[in-house]
Amino acid sequence: MSYVSPGSGWPGDPASPDTPVAHDAAQVAELAGGSRTLAELTARQSVCRACPRLVEWREQVADVKRRAFADEEYWGRPVPGWGAEKPRILLMGLAPAAHGGNRTGRIFTGDRSGDWLFASLHRVGLAAQETSVRADDGQRLIGARVAAAVRCAPPGNKPLPQERAACAPWLVREVSLVVPDLRVVVALGSFAWQSAWTTLREVGVRLPPRRVPFGHGVEVAADGLTLIGCYHPSQQNTFTGRVTAPMLDVVFSRAAELAESAV
Ligand code: SF4
Repeated sequence: MSYVSPGSGWPGDPASPDTPVAHDAAQVAELAGGSRTLAELTARQSVCRACPRLVEWREQVADVKRRAFADEEYWGRPVPGWGAEKPRILLMGLAPAAHGGNRTGRIFTGDRSGDWLFASLHRVGLAAQETSVRADDGQRLIGARVAAAVRCAPPGNKPLPQERAACAPWLVREVSLVVPDLRVVVALGSFAWQSAWTTLREVGVRLPPRRVPFGHGVEVAADGLTLIGCYHPSQQNTFTGRVTAPMLDVVFSRAAELAESAV
C-alpha cells in the first residue's frame, strides 16, 4: 500500500505531518466542523482515513497503478476541494477518479472527464489553461472552485451510502466557508445534484421544499444563488454524445454570466 506522506513535498499538498487525521465518521464531523479556514479544512480532508473500504482501495490503486502511469508516484489520499478561496462559482462532482485525482492529487486532473471539463472552463474564461494534467502544471481556476461530494476514489465509481454520509461534513463545511461569496453551484451529474441540495440546505440556503428533478441546464434560484444541473463529462456520457463540448460551454457560460451579473 502506498500514498504520499503529508508534507513530503508534493506540489500543493495542504497537509503536514501534524495535520489531525479522522479515523471514523464522528471524527470527520468533529474535524470538519472545527476547521476555521479553507486551508485548515483542506489539509484535514486530505489525510482522512474514515472509510476503511475506500482507504484500502485508493492505496491499493496507488500501489498497483495503471500501466501507462507505472513510473509515476500516485497521490493515494483523499482529494480535497480546489480553486478560488472566494469563489463565485462552485462545481460539484461525485468522487475522484482512481487514476485521475487519486494519481495527481487534484480533482478532475489527469483524466478524460477533466480534459472535457477544463477545456470548457477555459473556453468560457473560468480556467487559466485548457488542460489540467498535474498538480504543478500551472492550471488555475478563475473565480471558481471544484469539490467532490465524496473525497476518495471509490471502486467502480460507486461510493456506498454510509461512505457518502461519512464524507458529507467535509463538503458542508467547505460550502459554509465559501457561501457568502457564492452565486452559482453547478452540479455535475444527478448524484452531485442530490448532494448539492442536501449541502446547500444544511448551510442555510432556502431551496424549494421539494427537490427539483436533475436535468442538464435545469436551474433553481434561491437566496441570491443559482443551482444549475449539468451532465457529468464522464467517458460514457462524452463517448455516447449525451454531453457534448457545446453543451458544457452553454452551462458554464451561463454560470459565468450569472456570477458576473450578481456582482
Ligand atoms: S471518502 Fe471522505 S470520509 Fe471517507 S475516507 Fe475519504 S475523505 Fe474520509
